Amino acid sequence: MKPVILTHGGAGRPTPDAPESEGARAEAVKACAQACEAGTPWLKSSGSDVALEAVIAAAMVLEDDPRFNAGTGANLRLDGSLELDASVATSDGRFAAVACLRATKNPVLVARALLTTPHVMLCGEGATRFARQQGFAEASMVTEKALKRWKAARERLASGRLRPYEQGWKNIQFHGTIGAVARAADGTFAVSCSTGGTSMMLPGRIGDTPIYGAGVYAGEHGAVCATGHGELCIKRMGAFRVYTRMAQGLHPQKAIDLEVADFPQPYEVGFIAVSREAHGMGATDGYMPCFALEA
Ligand code: ASP
Repeated sequence: MKPVILTHGGAGRPTPDAPESEGARAEAVKACAQACEAGTPWLKSSGSDVALEAVIAAAMVLEDDPRFNAGTGANLRLDGSLELDASVATSDGRFAAVACLRATKNPVLVARALLTTPHVMLCGEGATRFARQQGFAEASMVTEKALKRWKAARERLASGRLRPYEQGWKNIQFHGTIGAVARAADGTFAVSCSTGGTSMMLPGRIGDTPIYGAGVYAGEHGAVCATGHGELCIKRMGAFRVYTRMAQGLHPQKAIDLEVADFPQPYEVGFIAVSREAHGMGATDGYMPCFALEA
């Protein structure tokens, strides 16, 4: 089977107060390409679990890039705290996730470490303690840009000048969650996903990223990673919905296009997906930096 890796840098339309320049968009796609490049050596190697290693290597590149809302540079909660969600899944049925993890540079590595335990999910204090026990040092990932976004979110909340999709909170604006899916030559699949959440959220809020079937899913027919409005993605089981369509024989692009079209407006969603024969990527109005690279 032809190995391939796909990455994304989060779904989300530009807004009047946060317009997207052509340059920024091109840079984000370039970063997604670099993340794919970090994964391809694994896909070319002959070891076991190379799809998982590939998606972890790719996710780490984007977690370490302060322009994305994951790891370093992740969004702050409304109280100014920073909590991170991440997950990994493989086509042989393994899954592990951390939610509301604090002060840890690469949440995706903590999720991977959890694969070696009987648990599938840890959250908050327990997740953070587990990270330290596993040797992941305490780190600050708060950037100037994240602080600016946080202040802007608080101002919008205080003034009531919420964006169209912030009306339930009014809801959410999200940019730059990251994720990767891969198919290895041996026909195995894996997915990784990592986020700082949305732009307006309470401490303790958990989105779709660490939820099996919502933010990520992998099985014998492929792997899927979601980004976008986490609450709706959980309720719709977004990643599983796309996967199910692929399992029924739909091309990944078609499976994604259908779910993006069905997603309630004005909420945004995006997916990357890989099947045995093909791959696809797409988001609401096309706003999602992403890249695919064959190894
Ligand atoms: N889905 C993520 C969340 O709700 C946000 C995103 O994808 O940008 O936490």
